[in-house]
Amino acid sequence: TWSQLEQMNIQLQTLIDEHNQTADHPLSYAVGYDISCKNHYYLIMDLLKIADEKMYQDKKYKKQQLAQKQQYLTKSGLAQSISSDSLKEKIFTILTNANGEKEYAFIMTDISKFHLINDYWGYETGTKILNFVLRRMELFSASLFVNRYHSDVFVAVLDITGRKSSDVKKQIEEYNRQIIQEILKTFQINYFHLNTGIYYLKDTSIPAEQIISHTNIVREKAKTELSGVCEYNNDIALNERHCADTIHSFKSALKQKEFKIYFQPKICGKDQTIASAEALVRWQRENDTMWYPDMFLPILEETGEIQALDYYVYEETFAWMNQRQKEGKRVIPVSLNVSPVHFGNIHSFAEKVMALIKQYEINPYHVIFEITETTFIHNIKAVNEMICFFHEQNIRISMDDFGSGYSSLNALKDILFDEVKIDKRFLSDDLSENGKIVLQEIFHLLKRTNKSIVCEGVETKEMVDFLVEEGCDELQGYYYYKPMSQNAFEKLLENIV
Ligand code: C2E
Ligand code: CA
Ligand code: CA
Repeated sequence: TWSQLEQMNIQLQTLIDEHNQTADHPLSYAVGYDISCKNHYYLIMDLLKIADEKMYQDKKYKKQQLAQKQQYLTKSGLAQSISSDSLKEKIFTILTNANGEKEYAFIMTDISKFHLINDYWGYETGTKILNFVLRRMELFSASLFVNRYHSDVFVAVLDITGRKSSDVKKQIEEYNRQIIQEILKTFQINYFHLNTGIYYLKDTSIPAEQIISHTNIVREKAKTELSGVCEYNNDIALNERHCADTIHSFKSALKQKEFKIYFQPKICGKDQTIASAEALVRWQRENDTMWYPDMFLPILEETGEIQALDYYVYEETFAWMNQRQKEGKRVIPVSLNVSPVHFGNIHSFAEKVMALIKQYEINPYHVIFEITETTFIHNIKAVNEMICFFHEQNIRISMDDFGSGYSSLNALKDILFDEVKIDKRFLSDDLSENGKIVLQEIFHLLKRTNKSIVCEGVETKEMVDFLVEEGCDELQGYYYYKPMSQNAFEKLLENIV
């Protein structure tokens, strides 16, 4: 079968690659194959000819590749890269032979957008630049060894005995600055930038692969820092552990229902009764600690698993509403947050949500979806499409965190939202005269476009008075209630009705 032939081809390639890694005389080879079978029939001579032609093509391609490689090697000789295993061995040897007084730093440096240098200035320039960086790094006064690790990544161990880490960082920043200057001058290119991650080798018991992986993390982080240099420290270590903990315990936590729905009432501006509530998720960890959304949502957003969590929150909320309905208790509209991740596939989202609404016999009037302004700005078309779909189902949509992004006013022009939730930052400090004027004008604008206005983060009586006076439809905040457990919320509803 084709797949057997493919397997054979790959096996052959692996064997030859392995051989060539250590061989004095590397082998080259070419492969061609085809199949004759019932629906794909060839005479044997034709079959041989086709396979032979394919082998010839393969040979031609591989020869070209080799010639290109040799050209670089003879012209500029790209520095050999060090394998992961050799790098680990080097680090290990240095650490085990350290006499206890010695201190070292492991650094990893890469070139920003190196592939663009290759694309724009050509591979030859790229190769020369790589070699230049390597040679310059070898000149670092305290370097024990410097190597190219892979592609445009360099590694080095520096002897930093008796030096403060802040000085080491400063010195590396200075080194990088010099290299950048020299590259820009020598190669006449317009953009060149280096990123370096530093790991201080204090604890000799840490395995070398962990050292490499930790340094890799800070090298990536360095890209977002102005200096281009970032050190591995305790905060980063804790953060990494927290991310790992979140990602790897999420699935079982979901199964074991560790996620709890909290409710925060929204108060009617006119008569000060509870008009609706927002569902907010909490993670009840095994050891009696509670995690707030900020601690895990951004991580789950990155892995996409927040989708599963959102559906869980919706289902738990709907099941609760359904239960109350059956018991003849009061049901009020609930606002549910929608993660931006869903806008990658709005049809699947709409389908799943509608299935849940049907399953739990939820009155569409009792469901409001909150989509943040930032999500809207990044997915205008998908969000509007989703709003249209939900409007057909009589479900309302609210724009969350309005005014927290950059394009608020522009966003107002073509929004289909039913409700706009003014971001709590508008109310954060004591309301200044100017702050009041801004809010008044926003309210004016929203009313003229028939939007319902909600303010969140309402914390003081003064704010309430001002917002009610200005015609705010609903208010949400600690002045009234903090988010509360389902039990507490049920009690509240019972006491009030
Ligand atoms: P958000 O949608 O803007 O929710 C309001 C946040 O403000 C809540 O934080 C709430 O506890 C807090 N808050 C309420 N009143 C006040 C107040 O008077 N003062 C102050 N300073 N804060 C107040 P929380 O519960 O930590 O939620 C943070 C964010 O996490 C939410 O912001 C929302 O974006 C997200 N989130 C929460 N639950 C879910 C969920 O089930 N799915 C998705 N996708 N996101 C969720
Ligand atoms: Ca919200
Ligand atoms: Ca909000």
